Amino acid sequence: MALQVVALVYCLILAALFLGIWLYYDHRDHARFEIERRKTTFRCARCGKLYAAQGVLDLGTCPHCGQENARLQF
Ligand SMILES: [Zn+2]
Repeated sequence: MALQVVALVYCLILAALFLGIWLYYDHRDHARFEIERRKTTFRCARCGKLYAAQGVLDLGTCPHCGQENARLQF
């Protein structure tokens, strides 16, 4: 019984470790990708269209209907 608990804890630690590594690389690659692109993606709240603006912005005007939208959070 104790051996099973040890094995379970070991598996959980391994899983947490891999999850941590995966999250770290995912976040790092995403940040690097964002810097390289220097573009901000928006989704229009009025017409639902996706569009991008040059630079890192908090607000972007929809080219389809003129609605101001906050940038997408990933
Ligand atoms: Zn729009």
